[in-house]
Amino acid sequence: MKSINPYNFQVIREYPDHSIEEVREIVKQVHLSGLTWKETSVPYRTELFKVLGGLLRSGKDQLAELMTREMGKIISESRAEIEKCANACDFFAENAGSMLKDEVINSDATRSLVVFQPLGVVLAVMPWNFPFWQVFRFAIPAMIAGNVAVLKHASNVPGCSIAIEELFRKAGFPENLFRSLMIPAQMVESVIADPLVKAASLTGSGPAGSSVASAAGKLIKKTVLELGGSDAFIVLEDADLEKAVRVAITARMLNQGQSCIAAKRFIVMEEVVDDFTFRIKEAVLKLKVGDPLDEETQIGPLARPDLVDDLEKQIKKSIESGASLITGGRPTGLSRCYYLPTILGNVKKGMAVYQEETFGPVFAIIPVKSEAEAIETANDSEFGLGGSVWTRDTDRGERVARKVMTGAMFVNGLTKSDPRLPFGGIKKSGYGRELSVYGIREFVNIKTIWIG
Ligand code: NAP
Repeated sequence: MKSINPYNFQVIREYPDHSIEEVREIVKQVHLSGLTWKETSVPYRTELFKVLGGLLRSGKDQLAELMTREMGKIISESRAEIEKCANACDFFAENAGSMLKDEVINSDATRSLVVFQPLGVVLAVMPWNFPFWQVFRFAIPAMIAGNVAVLKHASNVPGCSIAIEELFRKAGFPENLFRSLMIPAQMVESVIADPLVKAASLTGSGPAGSSVASAAGKLIKKTVLELGGSDAFIVLEDADLEKAVRVAITARMLNQGQSCIAAKRFIVMEEVVDDFTFRIKEAVLKLKVGDPLDEETQIGPLARPDLVDDLEKQIKKSIESGASLITGGRPTGLSRCYYLPTILGNVKKGMAVYQEETFGPVFAIIPVKSEAEAIETANDSEFGLGGSVWTRDTDRGERVARKVMTGAMFVNGLTKSDPRLPFGGIKKSGYGRELSVYGIREFVNIKTIWIG
């Protein structure tokens, strides 16, 4: 595996792959460590996660730089991502005890209760776009619940994968509780088939999710899938446009637009669509494109050249089908990984940017005539991850939020993940939940004990 800097295409480092025999041995070692780990108390585990949180904070600058060099995220966002992982360590350290506590239920028994017991080795297959957060979002709750983990990270971020494994070691976790597998995607099925692997969690694209779920389904193993999205950003005619525009820029441009919960379809009422578009264009033209390690840069490179090619095809096809190009629509020329922030207006059903997930800095603006049409358009997607609605009337906002079929809706706020709230999708955005009490209970046996 190769770490290649998308800013200047320098090869940072090469890593040897694990053979199938090495993978079997790692899984066995992780399983054996798990036998002791599951017998430890939740307070013992949470103490270790507090240490891990501290290490993330003290190593923030170095870890952030690694991430930026490997996948191009601007440095301020890399630091924020590390901080977010540390905060999640603190959150679960404080709350896991109550989330995993036995529940006594009244029934016909003398005493009946529900207990939460770990499953064992869980395989995590993770993407490159938030190379630390996606892994920690899965690993903290799963491991505090008593599971152990093997990670198959995306092939373009092997350095982050190794750094995360190293952090567990440095924090004083027992050996082999969390190990990285340096393997290509084609080997994932054989890891799932290992009898010692009890479940799998995948964050990534639909085809990868389908392949992991099929392999696990054949063997009746549990999966959680966090897949793509095409979130609606609904602007009603009574919205605070200034605030909506400010948040829209972050909602679309964070991570160069490479986020599952980025706002991708801007569904705007006709009365305000021209004003909204004008303001978005003004803000977009001010964004500073450049070196992601430069503190001033707001837009860095996409993570790989093939992602630029895919995005460009979607934009070209949409223009050919009648979308109007308001700004951008071409590479910047800085390196093969840069693409200019782009706005497409008059987007309609059937166009690529309406139907497909766009993973890059492109606004697709879809004018609508009514609230009902806005809701219908938001729901006219094969995805169902997140979304937001903008209105000065919060009752109206809640009414719209209830009608949009996604895993989360935000009224007058940026769609984001938060350890206190469940995160996940419906439809082709996947199933299962991460974070909060719902997330910590995904990889446990929710077991009834009935005493007569
Ligand atoms: P991807 O190509 O699906 O890769 C994700 C992970 O799956 C990588 O580790 C990849 O390994 C592996 N993989 C790919 N094909 C596989 C297969 N057939 N069987 C088993 N594993 C396979 O996705 P990506 O391009 O890295 O990430 C972007 C996608 O992830 C977007 O669709 C985005 O919306 C989604 N995403 C969703 C969430 C969420 O929470 N819902 C969060 C972040 C990203 P290789 O790198 O070796 O191919």
